[in-house]
Amino acid sequence: MNFDLVDEFSPWEVCEATQKAAAVEAARRAFATVAYRKEWAGAGISDGDIGVETWSRLPMLSKEALVDAARTSLPYGGRLNVAPEHLAHVFVAPGPLFMPFTMADMEVLAGSFAKALAGCGLTSDDLVDQTTMYNWVIAATALDRALLKLGCGVVPGGVGQSERHIEVIKQLGITAIVAFPTFLEHVLEQASTSGHRLPLKKAAVMGELRDPQAKQRMHDTYGLTVREFYGVADVGAVAWECAVGNGMHLRDDLLVEFISPGQSNAVEPKPGSPAELVVTDLHRQAMPIIRLRTGDLVDGLMREPCSCGRSTPRFTRIVGRSSEITKVKGMFIVPRLVADVMQLQGLERPFRLVVERLEGSRDELSLEIAGEPFQDPTEFQTKVESALRIRLALKFVESLPDGGPRLLDRRFATGG
Ligand SMILES: [Zn+2]
Repeated sequence: MNFDLVDEFSPWEVCEATQKAAAVEAARRAFATVAYRKEWAGAGISDGDIGVETWSRLPMLSKEALVDAARTSLPYGGRLNVAPEHLAHVFVAPGPLFMPFTMADMEVLAGSFAKALAGCGLTSDDLVDQTTMYNWVIAATALDRALLKLGCGVVPGGVGQSERHIEVIKQLGITAIVAFPTFLEHVLEQASTSGHRLPLKKAAVMGELRDPQAKQRMHDTYGLTVREFYGVADVGAVAWECAVGNGMHLRDDLLVEFISPGQSNAVEPKPGSPAELVVTDLHRQAMPIIRLRTGDLVDGLMREPCSCGRSTPRFTRIVGRSSEITKVKGMFIVPRLVADVMQLQGLERPFRLVVERLEGSRDELSLEIAGEPFQDPTEFQTKVESALRIRLALKFVESLPDGGPRLLDRRFATGG
């Protein structure tokens, strides 16, 4: 499939048609592997059935299935589609999950992140502190190569050691940083507390942005332009912000589908009705990735063209995980929305949402917050209820289990 004719500035319909045709080719290649052939045969699919019209019949792939397959059929779970001597990199994720890439795969992967980082505003003029992990996992290697592709200078700082980062950023005059948002904010705060003025001008952040205001806050407080990108280890960059900073554009050469959480039917993500992202890699040779459920949820898609000139649809952010979502009275309950309200109110307390089935099959949603009751909880409760679009009971409890789930659905529990 020739992608040279489309890019993120091509009309979206053209991108979509190209993606679908390329996805079919990728699925046909995947059919050559033992694992896909077995799984798809189980769903009554033969290679003649793989086509654009029949695409939605192809079974989805989950992270759990990848890990399970790797356990029974080491090391690649029957999904390796090239001779082992053609591998360039093998990354190791918890599971264990081994992720093989050929040299050509690495080029595509780095290319996807290069587009993402360019969208986030990084240029060849920047000297960049790359602060994600270099060992075993994919992130740093992919980002490092992407930065080189952009012509940036790279300082391979890696994870942790915020004081060392601060020192080096100052000494080298580093202008940009690639980081997880919590680490970035920690570095900025620490530098400011110890009286350092950092030369940083730009940041590209990935991963959980717990606080939707964080980007603006870092800009206002430290004069830093923060842009966000979203990636999935198996396929690379998936979406990224542009200079406008109003939503992350979907990648042009990746098939992204939206499905109802926990189901497999296609839905359009909407506020109050999030959808799970499912991705198909159009290029990958070493290990085809077809219809992988990411577990990540978005709750809206902006389809109107962006003023940056890109025509690819945008979503604002990841609102949660499909494992952390349930439906009560027809409404999706997303703990992240509660976290947002708490953050905006400056409340840092553990909480959890509990769903119970009362007599007469009535479902009740409670929000449990650890610690002393608020002075006047009514306003807070109204805010949470309007964020979740459902009424709930607010309860204050002495404590909540450390690191426990933020959502407990007791309706379908078989015990405990
Ligand atoms: Zn844009």
